[in-house]
Amino acid sequence: MTKTQPLLQVENLKKHFPVRGGVLGKQVGNVKAVDGVSFTVNKGETLGIVGESGCGKSTTGRMLLRLIESTEGKVVFDGKEVTALSQNELRKLRRDMQMVFQDPFASLNPRHTVGKILEEPLKVHGIGSSAERKKRVKELLETVGLSSYHAKRYPHQFSGGQRQRIGIARALMTRPKLIIADEPVSALDVSIQSQVLNLMQDLQKEFGLTYIVIAHDLGVVRHISDRVGVMYLGKMVELTTSEKLYDKPLHPYTQALLSAVPVPDPLFKKDSIVLQGDIPSPSNPPPGCTFHTRCPFKMDVCEKKVPQMLEHEEGHYAACHLYTEEKQGASQNKEMVGGGAV
Ligand code: SF4
Repeated sequence: MTKTQPLLQVENLKKHFPVRGGVLGKQVGNVKAVDGVSFTVNKGETLGIVGESGCGKSTTGRMLLRLIESTEGKVVFDGKEVTALSQNELRKLRRDMQMVFQDPFASLNPRHTVGKILEEPLKVHGIGSSAERKKRVKELLETVGLSSYHAKRYPHQFSGGQRQRIGIARALMTRPKLIIADEPVSALDVSIQSQVLNLMQDLQKEFGLTYIVIAHDLGVVRHISDRVGVMYLGKMVELTTSEKLYDKPLHPYTQALLSAVPVPDPLFKKDSIVLQGDIPSPSNPPPGCTFHTRCPFKMDVCEKKVPQMLEHEEGHYAACHLYTEEKQGASQNKEMVGGGAV
């Protein structure tokens, strides 16, 4: 499958949570959890979204499904503007867009059997007769490497890895086009993580799925993604193919994240960039480039001017003055359409 047809387009997506204070509970500010994120996901592609906790990656994932309503921006899925749909239209569309959650135990109802949990999405969408639904439950359990008799068991009777397989099976029940997986393996042992990621890749090939994989661990995202977007303090700061991001990261934040990833060869020495200080509060982000308080390459302009996401090499976008300053006046920087990646 050629991965050039857009399935999901996200433009300038924002989520600002109001901060209230005083006796009257008046709004005194905003927490800018997501502040103008734009990207496109092509059919059959896996887009990884990475960043430290609190960078807004999970809020972004939830806004795509409208589990959280956005403050501003546009999400278009398969030609339909998700952000403009009525609740009824949205419910129908959710058949095609499913989510896999971080904690498989918390997301599975402990009082229901696995069979009942897996049948539920089909019931909600009115798909199939009772016999057909039960048949699909058995098929899906086998597809994700479990057995049909597991349908009679309860979530607590499974290991963490098995529970995440159940979470994946539940997401697949309605035959979706897009799966958003929020930290799908971070609650699992390292030895189980690769099994679940391999399963996701196999299912992608088998069913032509498109994935958005949200993770704080660059290793996880590298394993599975075609392209990777890096988020910092509610904004996307770099977006490119997995290969380019790991071989030649442009943004100093990405470079710092990568320098912190352990390498298996103890004799291999890589330059380490140690970030100073904590992530600033999203209720009071620094002016200009929000990374300037921690950036080892900060220049004067960084405190004053917000860097735009620009294409510096083919398909390699970054928001950093290091490159715009270098190329100031040159025409080769193509601004991203609508502030977003194409
Ligand atoms: Fe660092 Fe400036 Fe680039 Fe921000 S814009 S990442 S502060 S060099």
